[in-house]
Amino acid sequence: MVRVYNTETGKMEILVATDTPQRTAPPRWGLTPDERFVPGPGHAEQAIVDYVNDNPKYQIVEGGGNRNICQKGESETGDCLAALQGEGLRTGGNYNPGTRYTSGLRHFWWG
Ligand SMILES: [Zn+2]
Repeated sequence: MVRVYNTETGKMEILVATDTPQRTAPPRWGLTPDERFVPGPGHAEQAIVDYVNDNPKYQIVEGGGNRNICQKGESETGDCLAALQGEGLRTGGNYNPGTRYTSGLRHFWWG
């Protein structure tokens, strides 16, 4: 889940993505009109980065996930830590041990 600033409207919006290849959000999520589901073939972080790159009116403000951000070599679908850092985002938050994704990082923000 990522908070983005819409530079055209001056408003904050929420982008939501998952690590599964589904094209729409499950109805049980109950997304509000300010929350937009972003589909993508890989990890949620990469889907969001791809989306804001395709829609330059959006600037990522902050975000986080429920598992660690993957790094090079840990996933077949990419390197989310490098993708986020490539957007000028800082990564951090409380360290979370992980065996599959070892960055220990789950949060990112502009600044
Ligand atoms: Zn990833």
